[in-house]
Amino acid sequence: MQLLDGKKLAQSIEKDLAMLVSACNDKPSLAVILVGNDPASQTYVNMKKHACERVGMIARLYALSSRTTQVELLRIIESLNNDEDVHGILVQLPLPPHIESNPILEAIAPSKDVDGFSPHNIGRVRANLSAFAPATPLGVMDLLAAYQIKLQGQHCVIVGASNIVGKPLAALMLNANATVTTCHIYTRDLASFTRQADILCVAVGKPNLITADMVKEGAVVVDIGITRLPNGKICGDVDFEAVSPKCSFISPVPGGAGPMTIVSLLQNTFKAYEIQRCIKGSYA
Ligand code: NAP
Repeated sequence: MQLLDGKKLAQSIEKDLAMLVSACNDKPSLAVILVGNDPASQTYVNMKKHACERVGMIARLYALSSRTTQVELLRIIESLNNDEDVHGILVQLPLPPHIESNPILEAIAPSKDVDGFSPHNIGRVRANLSAFAPATPLGVMDLLAAYQIKLQGQHCVIVGASNIVGKPLAALMLNANATVTTCHIYTRDLASFTRQADILCVAVGKPNLITADMVKEGAVVVDIGITRLPNGKICGDVDFEAVSPKCSFISPVPGGAGPMTIVSLLQNTFKAYEIQRCIKGSYA
């Protein structure tokens, strides 16, 4: 069994990105919008901000009151869309219940939608066109590629069908010529599907959902789930101790898909920066 070491890979990608950024005159800049004071969201936003700073990008944090209205948020996005010094825009989800997230995500200019959650980018990913793919699925694809795990003709089973992880990951894997099965809460006999997986990706948020009897001998397992246990420890959706001896490759939690998500956001921000420089015609 070999570990899919997302932490090590993310550090090496960050190093390459830092070199690219250091060669830029004007620095790539990401606007991060946080509405309210949900502690988990604050942690995620700070991690993203620090990651930007590590590679020399600018992170502009907009920490807005939980009383911010839909209209006020839309106005801020509009002004960031028109701000040439902002290359990427990210709205931390979930938003407070009085704000509808879809119109907010749709308002972000597609060329700055580095989270890839707008319908424009979702559609382009589905159509296998150049786009900003969401960071977590992108990170999983990069992790598999770094370990030379081929997807063509493989049966990829994805457990979890959210718009931010499971569905876009299914699209990316299909684009890579895998045979893809997506499972969700209504899937009957989950184990009958997971046992068929050459590559099993799990993004649910339920510790130990995947047990050893649910995994085929020699499978590749990518655990995307993150749950903070009452003792403060972070764990994934896969029973790592029991499942790992059966796997050819498995990603740990923490240190697998998580760091890859952050570095994929940085890559998307750099891509947005390059696209916008190109639009401005300022490429040397
Ligand atoms: P989500 O929106 O809650 O989606 C979870 C998905 O799992 C849904 O499709 C849900 O189905 C399905 N599901 C729930 N219980 C199930 C079961 N028993 N069997 C099969 N499917 C089941 O969550 P998410 O945002 O996709 O995140 C999923 C997990 O990944 C969470 O632990 C999250 O913290 C983690 N995550 C990690 C990263 C990272 O950087 N590593 C990034 C994003 C998310 P229904 O919708 O039908 O209920």
